[in-house]
Amino acid sequence: MTEFSYSTAGFIDRSLELALTAIAEAGFIRVEISSQEAHLSRPPAADDLASLRRHLDSLGLRVGTVHAPMRENVLGAPEEEWRRDKVAVLSAYLHSAAGLDAGGLIIHPVPNPIFVPDPERPELTGMITAATRRSLDDLVPVAQATGVRMLLENLPYHCAYPFLSMTELRALVDDYPEDAVSLIVDTGHAWTTGHDPAVEIRTAGTRLHGTHLQDVDAEDPQDNHWVPGEGGLDWPAIANALRDVDYDGLWTFEAIYGRQQESPEQVAIMTQRFSRIWP
Ligand SMILES: [Zn+2]
Repeated sequence: MTEFSYSTAGFIDRSLELALTAIAEAGFIRVEISSQEAHLSRPPAADDLASLRRHLDSLGLRVGTVHAPMRENVLGAPEEEWRRDKVAVLSAYLHSAAGLDAGGLIIHPVPNPIFVPDPERPELTGMITAATRRSLDDLVPVAQATGVRMLLENLPYHCAYPFLSMTELRALVDDYPEDAVSLIVDTGHAWTTGHDPAVEIRTAGTRLHGTHLQDVDAEDPQDNHWVPGEGGLDWPAIANALRDVDYDGLWTFEAIYGRQQESPEQVAIMTQRFSRIWP
């Protein structure tokens, strides 16, 4: 069964509570919670978690996934202090995700070069590779204890860092248990870095357990996060690829912008409309 979900990243202009209300009003019953500022920018304390759960219940919404904080919060931090710091952050978010009954925590494997000192040093490839594996070794037991699967995302960076494409990510996660570490494909990130999202889905194969469905321009894509159907991606081909790999996770929209400066409410409604004619 195809179950759709909508990310609160589309409503980053308001509090998490109001974002959830707007998503429910647009007709979604599953949600991905972003950890950007204004949403879960800190792992919620016990009281906050309880009131968040009550709010979700009152809206008839269920959390499918939580997106871990982004920016410097990665597995492959090339400095050991940075890495250890972020393992603690990601560990706390695995616990929060479990407290929200989420099945997955989305994690960015490697840093955006803008956060890395001297970002083109050739030795960074080896450092990031080793750090990513060390962090997974640290976090796999936490994922298994909490019952929340880490989902590693393909990222839209133009650099020589490892683990940006599904080919490398699939080889990485093959060394770890599927219930603890798997993959999420972001369709717009794929096309922005010159990869066909349908091919990336097939490469992720049985280890694909999450989606970020967003459209980008066919020419000169810039990770646009348009409503699906508003950009240049081949959505029938994406749906076919998901079916071909027997994808059984959530079909999560990460739409943020309308091409005509539509409001976040309109973007969510347009996306909900798209989900009725696709796949
Ligand atoms: Zn994404």
